Amino acid sequence: MFNFYISACDLPAAKLAADVRLYAGRGWLALVREATAIIGDSEIMAIREDAGALRIELTPSTPEQRSALHEIEERSLRICEICGERGKLRYEGMNNGRRAGWHRTRCERHVNTRTSSVVPPILDQIANTCSGLFIHAPAATAQVIADALRAAGKPVAVLIESDKMETAIYQVAIQLKISELHTLPATLEQASTKLGKPIYLVVERAERFERSEITYALKSARDSLNSSEFFGLRIVFVGTDFTALRRMARLSSAAFFGADVLDSSPEERSVFDLAEREQMRRDGLRIALSHRSSTQERRVALLDLATVLRLDREVPFGTAAHLSTEEIRGLVPVIVREGRIPYVRDADIPEPWARRFGIASIGSTRVLAGAYVHDWENFLRLWDEEHVRLIDALENLEDV
Ligand SMILES: [Zn+2]
Repeated sequence: MFNFYISACDLPAAKLAADVRLYAGRGWLALVREATAIIGDSEIMAIREDAGALRIELTPSTPEQRSALHEIEERSLRICEICGERGKLRYEGMNNGRRAGWHRTRCERHVNTRTSSVVPPILDQIANTCSGLFIHAPAATAQVIADALRAAGKPVAVLIESDKMETAIYQVAIQLKISELHTLPATLEQASTKLGKPIYLVVERAERFERSEITYALKSARDSLNSSEFFGLRIVFVGTDFTALRRMARLSSAAFFGADVLDSSPEERSVFDLAEREQMRRDGLRIALSHRSSTQERRVALLDLATVLRLDREVPFGTAAHLSTEEIRGLVPVIVREGRIPYVRDADIPEPWARRFGIASIGSTRVLAGAYVHDWENFLRLWDEEHVRLIDALENLEDV
C-alpha cells in the first residue's frame, strides 16, 4: 500500500484545520515547510496537488500570503512531487490546444508514480465486493481510499469519529447531499434512488463497530441496496486491529460473515506507519547481525533492511529524519536534578528518533517522563555501530 502523501506528523509546527485536506506528495515537504513558516496565524485548510502544482489554502488569507504561496506554487512545478529532485510538469497530451489528462510534476524516475499508487488495484477490488471488504491498515488509509474513490467519480461517504447511530446517519446524509431519514438503511436507500449508481461507504477505525448496532444497520442497507430495486452499496471497513477485523468477517454470528479480509504486509504498512517501519528495522537488525541466524534468515533480514533504508530515503517520517545521531544528541536536553540520575524527556526527542529509541529500549528501567541519559547515549552509539555493520553486510549481500 504505497502512499507518498505528506502527513500532519510531518508538520508539527503548522496550524492545521481540524479537517485539513493533505493530498500533496512528500517530495514537496521542504516547500510546504517553507510555506508554513511564512503563514503566521492563518489556519491551513488544504495542502494539495492541483494540476501538477502544490496548492496551499488558508483561511483567512492576505494578499501578501497569497503572493508568497503563489511563488512557492510556481517553484513546485520544477520539483518532483514524489522525491523532491528536479522535475517538470508532465501531462498525457493535448486537447484543442490545451494540456490534457493526468497532470503531475515528476523527475524521470517517477514519471509514472502516483502519490497513492496503492489505490487503483484496491479500487477494483472494492468495486467488486458486494458483501463488504475489511482492510487492515493505518486509520489514515480510510481517507486515502475515500479520496481515490471520489477522484474516480464515485459517490462516497466516510464514517469517522463518533460511534453514535444518529451521527452515522448525519455523516452519510451530508456527504451524499440528501436529507436524513430515521434509519441508516432508509437514508442510504433514498441516496441510491437519487444517485442511480453504486454508493461507496468507507468506515474508519472499523473495530469500534464490532458490537455496534451500526454494523447491523450497514448489513441491512447492503442487502437492500444490492437488491434489484436499488443501485448497489460497497462497504469498506478499514481498521488497525487485525484480530477484531477477522472476528467481524469470520465469526458465523457476525453481520459481515464471509466478507474478505485484506492484510497489508509489514513492508506495505511501513511506508506510512512509523511504528511498523521501526519494528521492521529492529527485527531485521536483530536477525541480520546475530551469529545464530542461518544464512537464509540473514539474507531475508538484509533484504528487509534494504527496503527500510530505501523508505527512509524516499518517504522519511518526522521532523528529524535527516539528522545524524550527533545532531540529535545536541538537540535533546539532559535533565539534571539533585539526587537523581540524569535523564532525557520523551517529549524532547523528535520523530523518528523517539520511536526508534522506544522500540530499541523496550524493557529498560525508565523514569516517568523519559529515560536515563546513559540508556539514551548507549542507544545513539549503538545506532551508528549497527548502521556501519549493516552497510557492510548489505555490500556483501550483492555477492551472495
Ligand atoms: Zn522523483
